[in-house]
Amino acid sequence: MSTERDDGPTKVNLDESEMPTQWYNVIPDLPAPPPPPLHPGTHEPIGPDDLAPLFPMGLIMQEVTGESHVDIPGGVLDVYRLWRPSPLYRARRLEAALDTPAKIFFKYEGVSPAGSHKPNTAVPQAFYNHAEGVTKLTTETGAGQWGSALAFATAQYGIECEVWQVAASYRQKPYRKTMMEIWGARVHSSPSEATEYGRSLLAEDPDHPGSLGVAISEAVATAAADPNARYSLGSVLNHVLMHQTIIGEEALLQLAKLGEAPDVIVGCTGGGSNFAGLSFPFLREKLAGRMDPTIRCIEPAACPTFTRGEYRYDFGDHGMMTPLLKMHTLGHDFIPQPIHAGGLRYHGMSPLLSHIYELGLVEALAIPQEECFAAAIQFARSEGIVPAPEPTHALAAALREAEAAKQAGEERTILTAMCGHGHLDLPAYEAYLSGALVDVDLSDDAIADAMAGVPAVG
Ligand SMILES: *Cc1c(COP(=O)(O)O)cnc(C)c1O
Repeated sequence: MSTERDDGPTKVNLDESEMPTQWYNVIPDLPAPPPPPLHPGTHEPIGPDDLAPLFPMGLIMQEVTGESHVDIPGGVLDVYRLWRPSPLYRARRLEAALDTPAKIFFKYEGVSPAGSHKPNTAVPQAFYNHAEGVTKLTTETGAGQWGSALAFATAQYGIECEVWQVAASYRQKPYRKTMMEIWGARVHSSPSEATEYGRSLLAEDPDHPGSLGVAISEAVATAAADPNARYSLGSVLNHVLMHQTIIGEEALLQLAKLGEAPDVIVGCTGGGSNFAGLSFPFLREKLAGRMDPTIRCIEPAACPTFTRGEYRYDFGDHGMMTPLLKMHTLGHDFIPQPIHAGGLRYHGMSPLLSHIYELGLVEALAIPQEECFAAAIQFARSEGIVPAPEPTHALAAALREAEAAKQAGEERTILTAMCGHGHLDLPAYEAYLSGALVDVDLSDDAIADAMAGVPAVG
């Protein structure tokens, strides 16, 4: 089958010299600012000093900055250049297989050392901590992608890294642990014997499967107790989303080279960072009236934070140690089914992205995992790349758009983030190919039970 067309290239690369040198902060461009995080005891807004035991001032200032553009330090650009700028692809062979008039573009972040978009924030986080004399970073990881990104990043600046990996994936994904250890990190199965909270959970259930919420509690407690250590979060927070905007800034330049602008942007949302990273620069263009894409968050049906959660103040973790965040939440007690997209199994959502959703600037859609893996197989067979389970959600949404364009007989330009490869997620594909992967129903009762634990605020 020949898919040759004469309307432009299959992939667009930027030169290193064309790499953006600033991150984009969307907050000053929004019609209203997002509600502040609250102190869990007093319910008063927290200030920079309250966060100082957990984060370095350089990152805290980015969390609250009113600047639209923040310079990327040279020491970060040097490390970004190991894999950035990342390629933008036009999925021509997939378009041909679908026989759609739509154009499908994807920005590929699987080219990073850790195989996902996560090093885009892990590197600046390690950089600012190192610059302020921090010698150890602690964190949690679900599927292991964030832990490996932070292990790689801390190795670049010579600081220690201690990771709590959710027990279920620690058992299922031994190779992620090996990757973290290659880059020098120390990895615990969470709940662990290393913290009081972990010991209390293990006493109740020695086979506790863990959850991101539990692992966050353990990593936070360890950092708070060590004056030379700080905590690092791979998603959700404003500064994390801002670091990821390098994805969208590059994609804007790449599409401009082709004279293209997206009609629809779809991205998967766990905590919201890869989605925000791709879409916020386009949202800026939309708010300024320079383009008008529909921007849609895609979440798993098993963890439908936007489409079935509530917009409430809730804890970011299971142990109720974090500040209260106004966000779309299923309740901090919610433990999602063990679906294969581990990175999308978080009970909450970025407060900034939640606010933008409330403002009506982005939409949301939940898709069950079988459809996502079917889309991934079709993608892999035509484009070659094996996607991580998380972006298969965005891919399934892109396929729905391509089909809608075909039905309507109209051109449509679709943009998505292929935010990671799935080379360490082959057991999930094996389950799908052998017919063992099923969709699980999430009952209203299960959601109501977890929501009952959300604190009453205001
Ligand atoms: C962590 C991860 C996600 C989910 O996190 P976001 O902050 O929503 O991006 C999605 N995809 C991949 C590949 C990940 O590693």
